[in-house]
Amino acid sequence: MQYIGTRDKTITATASQAILKGICSDGGLFIPEEIPQMDKPLSELINLDYKELAYEILKLYLTDFTEQELKYCIENAYDTKFDTSEIVPLVKKGDAYFLELFHGKTLAFKDMALSILPYFMKIAAKKNHIEKEIVILTATSGDTGKAALEGFAGVEGTKIIVFFPEDGVSPVQKLQMTTQEGKNTCVVGIKGNFDDAQSAVKSIFTDKELSETLEQKGYLFSSANSINIGRLVPQIVYYYYAYTQAIKQGAITVGDKLNFTVPTGNFGDILAGYYAKCMGLPVNHFICASNDNKVLYDFFETGVYNKNRTFHVTISPSMDILISSNLERFLCHNIGQEKTKECMTKLQQEGTYQINRKESEISGEYATEQETYQSIQKLYKETKYVMDTHTAVAYAAYQKYKKQTKDNTPMVIVSTASPYKFTKDVMTALDEKNQKEDAFVLMKELEKVSGVKIPASIQGIETRKVLHNNVCEKQDIKNFVCSFLS
Ligand SMILES: *Cc1c(COP(=O)(O)O)cnc(C)c1O
Repeated sequence: MQYIGTRDKTITATASQAILKGICSDGGLFIPEEIPQMDKPLSELINLDYKELAYEILKLYLTDFTEQELKYCIENAYDTKFDTSEIVPLVKKGDAYFLELFHGKTLAFKDMALSILPYFMKIAAKKNHIEKEIVILTATSGDTGKAALEGFAGVEGTKIIVFFPEDGVSPVQKLQMTTQEGKNTCVVGIKGNFDDAQSAVKSIFTDKELSETLEQKGYLFSSANSINIGRLVPQIVYYYYAYTQAIKQGAITVGDKLNFTVPTGNFGDILAGYYAKCMGLPVNHFICASNDNKVLYDFFETGVYNKNRTFHVTISPSMDILISSNLERFLCHNIGQEKTKECMTKLQQEGTYQINRKESEISGEYATEQETYQSIQKLYKETKYVMDTHTAVAYAAYQKYKKQTKDNTPMVIVSTASPYKFTKDVMTALDEKNQKEDAFVLMKELEKVSGVKIPASIQGIETRKVLHNNVCEKQDIKNFVCSFLS
């Protein structure tokens, strides 16, 4: 199977080349020429464990990888780094099923893809006879950074540089990154937000002069952001897994439909769900849930995408994004390359574009800060289950959707992070007076109220040595990269 560009279908690549490149030379993203169909019946898939299911899906997308190579990647990625052998548990709480994607080392769903991406990258480099050192440039709204560092630290033949918004991540997220060990790692706080970091990184990828200079020096850039197709494909797996678990738990029978609500920022997670549906997974509807940065909600309501608006720093920081990169892929699948290119040019020049709105399998919903706090408290009161702030945006969005539509298809809430990453805001939701408490003291409190142990990977994190204290202005990101590599 070939991958083609979202702005120009004559740009083509094999799966391994697309993974190595990360982004097309014209700034577009790689998409599969055609979304493949699942070749096994659901009745057979329900007997597979997470790793076996991963193989059935990856083999349809990474067609230039051998069976042996894919199984090697899967075995090494989904091992004891996850604190449960199920890898991704589905749990029923209140009126919904929660797909817990945070049992990996860095406690967010980014681990699902970033624990396997370094293995893809190494094999892809070998396949394409790349001898150069691969430099992974990563912009993060908080969770990708740590998950990518964890995946690439110590991986021979790679360096990784992570840019995070200095004032836009939680205390736990920040320490997770700045205490990262590994000679090949570099972490930089920027005076700006995620959009600034992602735009700078994207422009470095498409800077011909710079990439030629660096190639001469023996470097090749790639991306660990969800603009990389190698990030997206592993995320399709857990939509299938949610479905097979829902059958096992008696929520549905084979062939019945499920709904999903996905807390969304860069549109990568929900796009993987859309791919699953296109492959034949019985999904009735997706709710794309936003926080106060509700650019996607407005888009799905009106067909107008407009990033010219105030950027809000919220209690769900990993969704604080106004330029949602993967929407470009969704657009291209729906309106084709030519129109997508027009929209993306307009977005770059004017910050806005418009398409003809039509009913689709995805609709937008959003939750305010107040609604997010309230939904954490309400679900806790009813069930003693503590959600993180991002999951809570999704849950609040689902409550609104249910009220409006009366749709009673079983709902899966895609639960993207552990509440321990956002202890302060989660505990404040449960009791306002916690607002004044220290985030790390509150971890112990969270342990008491939730009955869930503090995850091993962040125990004592507040006493770990800070190894990275680089800070840079947003306009200096390119210079920083150049001087780091010379
Ligand atoms: C990254 C992230 C999101 C948003 O995912 P996208 O793929 O960017 O839409 C939501 N929640 C958490 C906790 C995240 O880390």
